[in-house]
Order: sequence, then structure tokens, then C-alpha cells
Amino acid sequence: MKVIQLSQYGGPEVLQYAEVEIPQPKAGEALVRIKAIGVNFIDVYHRTGRYPGALPFTPGSEAAGVVEAIGEGVTEIKKGDRVAYAMHVGSYGEYALVPAAKLVPIPAQVDDKSAAACMLQGMTAHYLSYSTYSIKKGNRVLIHAGAGGVGLLLTQLAHKLGAYVLTTVSTEEKAQLSREAGADEVILYTQKDFEKEVKRLTDGKGVHVVYDSVGKTTFDKSLNCLQPRGYLALFGASSGPVPPVDPLVLSSKGSLYLTRPTLGHYVLNREELLSRANEVLNWVATGELKLRVEHTYPLSQASQAHTDLESRSTTGKLLLLPEE
Ligand code: NDP
Repeated sequence: MKVIQLSQYGGPEVLQYAEVEIPQPKAGEALVRIKAIGVNFIDVYHRTGRYPGALPFTPGSEAAGVVEAIGEGVTEIKKGDRVAYAMHVGSYGEYALVPAAKLVPIPAQVDDKSAAACMLQGMTAHYLSYSTYSIKKGNRVLIHAGAGGVGLLLTQLAHKLGAYVLTTVSTEEKAQLSREAGADEVILYTQKDFEKEVKRLTDGKGVHVVYDSVGKTTFDKSLNCLQPRGYLALFGASSGPVPPVDPLVLSSKGSLYLTRPTLGHYVLNREELLSRANEVLNWVATGELKLRVEHTYPLSQASQAHTDLESRSTTGKLLLLPEE
């Protein structure tokens, strides 16, 4: 089978298209024939070694496909089931071995590409808006990178929950997409000081919550955008990691709350995984959550997908498709 492998950390060029044996599932595992693979920013952290794994390995944390074989003791799914998963590394290939407990059945109304597109970013948007900070009607919410994969989904959910949604994006084209997703105000943070804009747009009050996936370049001003006792959910570092923070800063800026959440801790067991994933998949099925699969690449072009994602030129979801 064809896979993408990396035997050293580095730039997109370390993603090599290689041929390996199809593996056999061990106890508790399933072999999934992959139909569509989601590309996520976390794949960049794996590739560069920011989140190191044992080399060589196949990156990729999300896919949809069909169960080809199951190992001993697997009860969650059976051969032939259409399934999707997230948060298990090794999806950039024609087949992947996945713990059966991580596989979620795909409803008939949802196609493979949509399933691969919504698992990781959809469940992230779900936990951020329902669990990390439970958005209430009338809350003022700031979402950075509003036209990105997570950004477009989180904006839709915040809008659905009745929030006044402010987003930041880098270009006018991205601003348009963000508005279509439900942003009330879009700030071009490459042209304007987003802190000043947030203060202006909220009559100096600030926002209840900031969802910050950009990190290094936005963190300090994100804190300044919060109302007293506001929440900063720092959930990524697309521009680089945030340096260490003195907790006293949270006090002086208004008794703020700071959390650094990650999806794994919001799908702690199968029950929680199925409940979050099924809600997202059902919203996709009914059209309540609109996916924008803006960029698809053949599996062999994984390095191009990474180049595009890191250069800030993409919007919405990127997928890799195994060649038929
Ligand atoms: P995106 O599609 O959002 O792509 C990243 C976006 O970040 C870019 O399009 C760009 O938007 C913005 N950005 C700002 N500065 C930079 C920079 N210097 N370099 C690159 N991009 C920059 O990616 P994803 O939706 O896959 O992920 C978004 C973030 O959420 C990532 O940081 C990821 O790690 C995090 N994440 C965290 C999870 C968690 O559970 N903690 C789960 C899933 C994702 P613009 O051009 O508009 O500035």
C-alpha cells in the first residue's frame, strides 16, 4: 500500500510517498481502507517535531473509510462498516490500523469526504463552544483565524448559540467566508490592531471569551480583549508557541481565566466520543453545519498540502485522497 512516511523532522519536503506492506489488525484494532484523509495543523506539529513521535512514522490524525478487517475482541464495529476517526496518528495512507474504540460509524447521509472533514475540527469546535466555555445567547465572542478549518465551524456554532461573533482573518477573501459562516464583525488583523477594534465594536466592554489558535502573535492582545473574569481558550499555536505566562498577569488584567484545552481530554471515553461525534455528523447530515472542503490533493501531494496550510493561503478544510 502507498503511505506518506517521514524519517526525519523538517519542512514539507520530508513527507515522502512510500510503499509498505498492508498491516494486520491486532487485538482491539481494525484495519481501515482509507477513502479520504483530513489535513490538520496538528500534522504540521508532528512533521516538524514540535509534538515528536518515534521515527519513521506515517503522519495524519483523521480519516474516513471502510473496515477491511478486525482484530480479536473487537465489538464496536464490524467488517464493511463505514467509519471515521480522529486523534490517532497514521492516517496518511491507503490503509490504517486504528483502535476500534476510536472508530465512529458514519451516517448514510454523510459522504466519506464530509466525514473525514468534520471529525477533528468539528469535534474541536463542539467542545470549545459547549464545554470549555459554554456559549450563552448574547455572549460576545472573539475567534481568531475565522476562515480556517476550525474557525469556520466554531463561528457557525457560536452564531447558532446566539453569540455576537467577532472574528479575525488575514485577507478580504477570508473575511467574506467568515461573514458567510455567521461572523457579525470581521477584523483584518493584518491591517488593523484587533485589540482596538474589539474594544470599539464592544463599546469598550470587551468579550466574554476569546478562542485563540494563533498563539504567539495574538496571545497578549487576546487577554486585553477580555471583559473582567473573561475566558481565554488558547487551543493552538499556528504562529508559534506562547512564551511562559506569569499568573499575576491574569489578575491585573481582570481576574481572567486561561485554559489550554486539547481534544483528547474532551473525548475521554467512548461514550463521550460517540456523543460529540454523532452530534457533529448529524449537523453535517442535516446541513446545520456547513463544511467547506476548499482544497483536495492526491495523497502523493501531501507536502503541497502542508506548504499551502502553513503559508496561510488556505481556507476551510484540506483533504488528501488516496489514488484509485
Ligand atoms: P487553519 O485552517 O485554521 O489554518 C491556520 C490558520 O491560522 C491560517 O489559515 C491563518 O489564518 C492563521 N495564522 C495566523 N498566523 C499564522 C502563521 N504565522 N502561520 C500559519 N497560519 C497562521 O488550521 P486548523 O483549523 O487545522 O487548526 C487551527 C488551529 O487550531 C491550529 O493552531 C491547531 O493546532 C489548533 N487545533 C487545536 C486543537 C485542540 O484540541 N487544541 C484541535 C484542532 C486544531 P489567517 O490567514 O486568517 O490569519
